[in-house]
Amino acid sequence: MLTIRNLSKTYPNGVRALNNVSLDIPNGMFGLLGPNGAGKSTLMRTIATLQDADGGSIRLGDIDVLADKPATRRVLGYLPQEFGVYPKVSAEAMLDHFAVLKGVTRRGERRDLVDALLKQVNLWDVRKRKLGGFSGGMRQRFGIAQALIGDPKLVIVDEPTAGLDPEERQRFLNLLAEIGERVVVILSTHIVEDVTELCPRMAIIAQGQVRLTGEPRETIRALEGRVWRRAIDKAALPQYRERMIVLSTRLAGGATLIHVLADAKPDDGFESVAPDLEDVYFGQLHHAASAGAV
Ligand code: ADP
Repeated sequence: MLTIRNLSKTYPNGVRALNNVSLDIPNGMFGLLGPNGAGKSTLMRTIATLQDADGGSIRLGDIDVLADKPATRRVLGYLPQEFGVYPKVSAEAMLDHFAVLKGVTRRGERRDLVDALLKQVNLWDVRKRKLGGFSGGMRQRFGIAQALIGDPKLVIVDEPTAGLDPEERQRFLNLLAEIGERVVVILSTHIVEDVTELCPRMAIIAQGQVRLTGEPRETIRALEGRVWRRAIDKAALPQYRERMIVLSTRLAGGATLIHVLADAKPDDGFESVAPDLEDVYFGQLHHAASAGAV
């Protein structure tokens, strides 16, 4: 269990990236969902002991994360947003090098570990290939192999599916789900489907604040009967936005379909729809934006 309490961070330029963040994150996959600039990376880097907070606390089991960085690093696997590799080195050699850095000094043990990891992330067949020739999905799977060295209790992945094609993305998410059966995995993402498909628990973060936390299904249920759909003329969209809470717009067969959040049917042109996690997410972002504007 990872417990975050009242975590705050303001950068020297005055940006308040984390504003009193508290979260309880149990074993399994946890989705941290938020738009660009929400503070996700700041939170991930702080948990990963790569930067300090101004205040608050983080505990992982009995480890005080902010006070005892070496102990945290021993049980942590991290796949950062920008994961650089040496393009001319093979996957196998690079992973071996990372294992040395993580303190796996015995040669035979390291060989077994590297082999097992390459198989686990499905890169065994391409282990001799140079990393520079890897696709985005292969590189991310390599990043996971690297993060799993040392049998971490906490695995953090920051925006891992951005830029992956659907097949690679699915493969990567399946791999994360397997890992999530044993340890805490935090998946930071701005892609709603990543969370819907994978995470039994999640939080929505916007403007440095936790807006909502819970099980995706529960949060969706809370919107039942309050999401309405209508096909409109695209030109009329600004008027709808002015009068209603427009959650999303979608092009469908030449028409623009909008989802609106309202306690009662906004007008006769609307029909009720079953809410989904995207409605939950955009509802929270709308709420955050209007709160911020006051
Ligand atoms: P996310 O990962 O959700 O996109 P970030 O944590 O990267 O969010 O950023 C949160 C806010 O903090 C943004 O407004 C960003 O511009 C700002 N920020 C991030 N890193 C720094 C930094 N090193 N110095 C100043 N501002 C930063």
